Amino acid sequence: MIERTLSIVKPDAVAKGHLGAILSRFEKEGLKIVAAKMTWLSRPKAKEFYAVHKERPFFNSLVEFMVSGPILVSVLEGENAIKKNRELMGATNPANADPGTIRKDFAENVERNAVHGSDAPETAAIEIAHFFSGLEMSNYKRV
Ligand code: ADP
Ligand code: MG
Repeated sequence: MIERTLSIVKPDAVAKGHLGAILSRFEKEGLKIVAAKMTWLSRPKAKEFYAVHKERPFFNSLVEFMVSGPILVSVLEGENAIKKNRELMGATNPANADPGTIRKDFAENVERNAVHGSDAPETAAIEIAHFFSGLEMSNYKRV
């Protein structure tokens, strides 16, 4: 099934200049970038985005990290895009991530872990709507 998923290159990876390398992996694996923008989250918006984690001990630290610098948000489209992106990302903790995954290659630790990716169709739809309107998504043919 053709799906869309939300990807974020987090502030750690943007600051270290890994933006191009990370987006390149999506392109190489056939995930089509149908929307993309750089933005800098406000605290309220970061808290809203990660609301599911608000009871977790790392919540405040995670929010501070996510507002510490600009991020690159994009919408990736393709066959099983949600799962495919999660596979390319690797495990949440880079110490447990498989070789060749984004987090293995670019993440610092379990918090500063380079990328976000939606985990299910329902969350993907909600997360995409946080950042993009339908008009901001481009339908072009990957050749
Ligand atoms: P994922 O991003 O792989 O879906 P989660 O949804 O569980 O992982 O967590 C959201 C984000 O919260 C992670 O990407 C990471 O930045 C941060 N995080 C998760 N677990 C921890 C932890 N134990 N300590 C600090 N930060 C964490
Ligand atoms: Mg998650």
